[in-house]
Amino acid sequence: MKISETRLTVVESLIVPDESGVITSTIKSLVELKSIDLIITTGGTGFGIRDVTPEAIGPLLQKQAPGLVHLLLSSSPKAVLSRPVAGICDQTLIITLPGSPKAVDECLEALLSGGILDHALALSRGADSRHLHENSAALTGAGVQTRHVHSHCGHHAPKPRTGGKMEMIPSSTFLGRLDIPSYLIVPLRARNSPFPLISLQEACQLIIKNIHHLPPITLPVNPSLRGYILAEPIYAQNDLPRYPSSNVDGYAIQASKGPGVYKVVHPGTHPRSLPVPEDSIYRINTGAPLPLGTDAVIMVEDTELVSPAPNGSGEVPSEELEVRTLAQVEVGENIRKPGSDLRKGDLIFEKGAAIGNTGGDLGALAFIGRREVVVYRKPRVAIMSTGDELADLADESDQQGEWRHWDTNRPILRGALEAQGYDVVDLGIVRDSLGAHVQALSSGLEQADIFISTGGSSMGTTDHIRPMLQEMNATVLFGRVKVKPGKPTIFAQVPCKSGEGTKPFFGLPGNPASALVTFNLFVRPALRLLGGFSIKDCQLQPVKVKLADDMPLDPRPEFHRVLVKANNEGQLEAHSTGGQRSSRASSLNSSNALVALPALVEEGPKQLLKGDMADALLIDL
Ligand code: AMP
Ligand code: MG
Repeated sequence: MKISETRLTVVESLIVPDESGVITSTIKSLVELKSIDLIITTGGTGFGIRDVTPEAIGPLLQKQAPGLVHLLLSSSPKAVLSRPVAGICDQTLIITLPGSPKAVDECLEALLSGGILDHALALSRGADSRHLHENSAALTGAGVQTRHVHSHCGHHAPKPRTGGKMEMIPSSTFLGRLDIPSYLIVPLRARNSPFPLISLQEACQLIIKNIHHLPPITLPVNPSLRGYILAEPIYAQNDLPRYPSSNVDGYAIQASKGPGVYKVVHPGTHPRSLPVPEDSIYRINTGAPLPLGTDAVIMVEDTELVSPAPNGSGEVPSEELEVRTLAQVEVGENIRKPGSDLRKGDLIFEKGAAIGNTGGDLGALAFIGRREVVVYRKPRVAIMSTGDELADLADESDQQGEWRHWDTNRPILRGALEAQGYDVVDLGIVRDSLGAHVQALSSGLEQADIFISTGGSSMGTTDHIRPMLQEMNATVLFGRVKVKPGKPTIFAQVPCKSGEGTKPFFGLPGNPASALVTFNLFVRPALRLLGGFSIKDCQLQPVKVKLADDMPLDPRPEFHRVLVKANNEGQLEAHSTGGQRSSRASSLNSSNALVALPALVEEGPKQLLKGDMADALLIDL
């Protein structure tokens, strides 16, 4: 009987070496997944020195199944010379078959026919045996989901054949409820990254191609508008100024009147809509509209007081009665014509313009009387740190201890994100387990528009970012970039549960300097793109700086943390923050820029020297 004729589901096959430790930990890893009902191994049960399968698996069995062993031994003459073991570990049934293809065939036939395996599996999963016996028809008829794992161990692995019965039995096959990725099995994990190493430019292009603006929203014009990008062009709604108005403090006058002594009227004594009397001039302040019948303004500096108006109490006079004008003014002198600042319909901001931090942009909107504008929504950002070794400063009971590091990356990310005006959903420190990772990612994506994790992005046994992305059916756009620090940076699009498309995910490396550098190189452009920045504006633009220290070159383009400040000659000068090892978070102190060092080339210089010019990205903006 073939496996494919049963209701067992083959999900994966593995070949493992004849090493007791590897076999044990492989089986243990599979059992710990809790989704495997049956593991069948083939091979390694004989008398040879390399036959160690029973020794590797036997100690794991909490309940022996001597009946199954007896069945195996009696079902095949060849099996008589093998030393099979069978039994239960947690809820997983484990059976070790001999390596000979014929014996495997015969043993399987015995196990699969007559419902013995179904029965054994149901029992190993905790079914009541009496109940099972009474309902055996229902058991088989109802199609109980028996999903099994079959592994193949040892040098006796049957070679794939081109014909005959053995083809029905894959040389080594896992059967299981889930498609169990082999990276979950420590000794079998890949030892090389599956991701191609791409250049920084390629990585940036992939970000640009795969991230789009969030939908526009309408917001009031107030200081919280800083950092938003306009999703509409803004035009002047009226001529400004709307009326002829004074450009100085002085007296509105008819230019045809020459220098002389005039009575003084002002807004408190004379309505602006009536012509100013022949013998008077109209006191006016900068920006105020001119009264009827005047066509120029004489500056207060070009006049002198002739007589003050006495006030009732006879104390200090409080008004001007008459002034003398000392100069001749021209028609239109010191007057702002209507529309001379802005014409109705003038373009104030193009669509895509940023509302900056200087206040000037808010002022420009206020000046034209805009109460609301349409802008692109800024992304909300979910962040998590990963690692069992991380201690949380915010948790008073957390201690650093011998093997622990303070979580440095969340303060880095939160600090930078909040300074740039993004709302942060802080998911805390997530432990090194696939389940915890998947849960955190799902929750973060429900609450935020983009997800940033740090740590776990590389090839270590506790690195769960790749499995998490696989589990979430994410599309990984890149997983390794030729840049220092920051090689194991992952960028993916993750499908959302709610069916609203995908959301971007960045898995940044764990070392703090790598996290900070990759945040600026990759995440900042992504945040900007989501928030409406154009492609040409989304990346940090380099400025030229003079190096104040020698800086060694690496085969990868490197981003050296520096403090940029003006020197005595008014040039921007970059001072190294010292040792650049990516775990040395103190290389981040006082750094406000990253010098982009070119990759070392054969025959080229080994370092840039003090005094050389280089490009730097200003990150404190
Ligand atoms: P990983 O890729 O998770 O193995 O992390 C690489 C290195 O960065 C390890 O030494 C981690 O302990 C360290 N690391 C990871 N995350 C953080 C963090 N949030 N703060 C400080 N160090 C970290
Ligand atoms: Mg880690």
